[in-house]
Amino acid sequence: QKSLQEHDPELFALLEQEAERQRGGLELIASENFTSTAVMQTLGSCLTNKYAEGMPGKRYYGGNQIIDQVETMCMKRALKAYRLNEEEWGVNVAPYSGSPANFAAFTAVLRPHDRIMGLDLPSGGHLTHGFYTLDKKTGERKNISATSAYFESLPYTVHPETGLIDFDRLADLARTFKPALIICGGSAYPREWDYKRFREIANENGALLLCDMAHISGLVATEEADSPFEYADIVTTTTHKSLRGPRAAMIFYKKDEREFGPKIDAAVFPGLQGGPHENAIGAIATQLKEVMSPEFKEYAGQVKKNAQALGAALSKYGYKLATGGTDNHLLLWDLRPQEITGSKIETLCDRCHITLNKNAVPGDKSALSPGGVRLGTPALTTRGFTESEFEKVAEFLHRAVEIAGKIQQEHGKALKAFKAGLDNNAELEKLKEDVH
Ligand code: PLP
Repeated sequence: QKSLQEHDPELFALLEQEAERQRGGLELIASENFTSTAVMQTLGSCLTNKYAEGMPGKRYYGGNQIIDQVETMCMKRALKAYRLNEEEWGVNVAPYSGSPANFAAFTAVLRPHDRIMGLDLPSGGHLTHGFYTLDKKTGERKNISATSAYFESLPYTVHPETGLIDFDRLADLARTFKPALIICGGSAYPREWDYKRFREIANENGALLLCDMAHISGLVATEEADSPFEYADIVTTTTHKSLRGPRAAMIFYKKDEREFGPKIDAAVFPGLQGGPHENAIGAIATQLKEVMSPEFKEYAGQVKKNAQALGAALSKYGYKLATGGTDNHLLLWDLRPQEITGSKIETLCDRCHITLNKNAVPGDKSALSPGGVRLGTPALTTRGFTESEFEKVAEFLHRAVEIAGKIQQEHGKALKAFKAGLDNNAELEKLKEDVH
């Protein structure tokens, strides 16, 4: 058998370049992380060869004796990692990723056109929580996510000034809209979730409560963030963000007379998926072993300390952070006072190997031109960064914004002119060198 390098030098070279990009830059995307060798090995193992439609012990193909043990191990570890009792909670570990997991959970417990309420995307929610837009000219509704095409969605928002979830408005809207499902959890919310308040609103309206803890699942497992399991009926999560596992997802459900388990299992397969990716399931299992170790607890604590240090350093430079700071692994950096869009900072940072993403900030006029960026600490914490390194990161980010300001002054605000201003910019070249 040939190695990848021998078989396909062209692809091998691209992989080498990507590895170098990941090693050589500052990775600040809040949803990314660097997986362990054990996870990588499992992902690239013989488990990828096997078809295993169905559940452990109930498969549609032969030869699943070992696979059943892998998947069962993964399920047991998943419950243990979140301190859940097997009598009270069940889990499905087969979803390919977070978006299919959410859609599977929704289709399991809702009928088409049932009503859902999730945090709006520009407020920090995720696409799959029912996102749609309205056409600027015609006002026509465009269902961006299948979750808004197949269910009736009315998003709730954060307060434009505080950046915190506007619970009073959510409660009012829910009283009129009467959703069948309320979703909490998001992709760009830097504060703790008040699960109790969500539960109260759900109860008042006879709605189910689903928490999508994708971003913070590593923090929840290590008790560095509040746990949604006390209040939610269903909890979904990706496994590749703060949990640091493979690109996959899990759906946890309460075991009671409502019989969520069989419905969720059936929604995942055969409802939406075919054969599960057992290599990913094995990789979740091995990552969950790590998640339960004292080292991972320490890691998750450091992720939070680093986010706080980064926030404090940016505030010292005089920058504005949505909600004033963070309780978790991410920061929403509001660049509107500097009059520089998130897109421009993202583009400039890309040029000097700082990877981050533009993001809407509370009160943004248009989600199409986000006024800020999202910064996360999980990936660089995996690389061993502590508070002092994050102070340095803040210094680099500050330099980036200053360079952007100067370019904008010289070349004007149009994106094309701004991009031209990045070429052969001596200060930018120096920043790139220092980042390395
Ligand atoms: N849920 C949340 C809260 C997310 O942030 C994301 C991805 O960023 C997802 C779901 C979707 O996960 P995936 O990209 O694996 O489909």
